[in-house]
Amino acid sequence: MRYPGDWLSLALVLIPTLLAGLLAWPGAADAGQWLAYLGRLAGVAGLACLLAAAILSVRIPGFDRPFGGLTRLWQQHHYLGLGAFLLLLLHPPLMALSRLPYGKPAMLEVLLPPAADWAMWAGWLGLMAMMIFLAPSFQFFGRPNYQRWKALHFLAGLALVAGLVHTLPLTRSLPTHLSLTVWGGLGGLAVLVFAWRATIARRVQRRPYRVSRVETLADRVVEISLLPLRGRRLAFEPGQFIYFTPHDSTLANGRGEEHPFTISSAPEEEVLRIAVKDLGDASRALQSLQTDTEADVEGPYGLFFPPASRERPQLWIGGGIGITPFVSAAEHIRMGGHWGDSFLINCTNDPSRAYYHDQLQAAAEASSNLRCLDHFFETHGALNRAFVVEHCPDAAEREWFVCGPTPLVRIARDIARELGVPKTSFHSEEFDFL
Ligand SMILES: Cc1cc2nc3c(=O)[nH]c(=O)nc-3n(C[C@H](O)[C@H](O)[C@H](O)COP(=O)(O)OP(=O)(O)OC[C@H]3O[C@@H](n4cnc5c(N)ncnc54)[C@H](O)[C@@H]3O)c2cc1C
Repeated sequence: MRYPGDWLSLALVLIPTLLAGLLAWPGAADAGQWLAYLGRLAGVAGLACLLAAAILSVRIPGFDRPFGGLTRLWQQHHYLGLGAFLLLLLHPPLMALSRLPYGKPAMLEVLLPPAADWAMWAGWLGLMAMMIFLAPSFQFFGRPNYQRWKALHFLAGLALVAGLVHTLPLTRSLPTHLSLTVWGGLGGLAVLVFAWRATIARRVQRRPYRVSRVETLADRVVEISLLPLRGRRLAFEPGQFIYFTPHDSTLANGRGEEHPFTISSAPEEEVLRIAVKDLGDASRALQSLQTDTEADVEGPYGLFFPPASRERPQLWIGGGIGITPFVSAAEHIRMGGHWGDSFLINCTNDPSRAYYHDQLQAAAEASSNLRCLDHFFETHGALNRAFVVEHCPDAAEREWFVCGPTPLVRIARDIARELGVPKTSFHSEEFDFL
């Protein structure tokens, strides 16, 4: 429980589950009644997880902050989805087994209800929809195509409505008025979130920008500069990211598709910059984005540098394109931004990939509380504890911020653990929502 939002997620699941657990307590009952109690409780907790996951899928700039940023909020959304799936899978077999004392036909009636029993069939429909949209999330068949995976997520709406249609007429765990209040409240919120995302969210939240410059930083990496077309420029903090939607009609892929990119410019600058590495179809196409085309910007999202940690001495470890949040913070410091003493290790394969080297060194020279050091995999090998401690002897006393590929984050986490850095002082971002 690191952030206030964590309590909200817990409350959304625990309140209905505890109410059902207490109000439907079977007392001195037989095995069948206990199985029915457990089965209903699994159903209530599963539906609560599903509704909480839907409510937390809301994407409004600022809403993610109490949860520690959008990446963390969506991690909770994933865990809730997984919890819902497992609990709802348990629900039918437990309910069926509870009928065993009344004979096999009674048991089978739960698994294969009569055609007219629409409430029971709604339950099965919801479960099927969940299986279809969650299977790619568990990566049973390898890493899914992100856009298809996202589109499939709309089946969650069907699962949610079917779950409510199944629960409301059948519920025996909560008195009717309480059931209507709890499920009506949570269901209503979830439906609002769906409706918001499916209809006006894009129009209201996106800001029009013009691509003012596209500069090649290295092989397969470009920096895109953007200027607001209308209205005020985006206010943001170092470490935050935007959803970028290009409208360049010449793009081979990804036109009109939104993708998250960390802002690499400082909040003080008029121009908004992002650096894009070719990691797939859309980001490859962005390597040849045309200037003077329009693009939408939505955000800012994320909380990589939590405000409470910004004053403290910090160790930054950036790997490859994961250097972007540190470029923004370094520029912010150079422009006089209030920030704690910071030591950056810029991890790249070789000097040709250290594309922000000059800019970072210039920021370090201009500021007494910023130091920047390169780490080249080709020369130094993998980052290790000896390298960190040799160059940053007080690393153990600093807040750690790590952004880069998963193996680098893992290595940094191990070094931090060995040095006794508390878990709460370790912050990481891997540029991946899956
Ligand atoms: C918080 C965050 C910040 C990021 N910042 C940067 C950055 O500063 N610079 C940079 O080059 N890259 C950044 N990325 C990664 C970038 O978003 C992906 O490389 C890009 O979306 C890939 O899309 P694609 O179609 O080219 O590749 P694909 O082959 O379609 O996708 C490759 C992988 O990228 C991820 N991805 C794809 N589309 C999306 C999407 N719409 N939303 C979320 N993830 C997606 C998925 O994990 C997918 O498996 C960031 C990612 C996140 C989550």
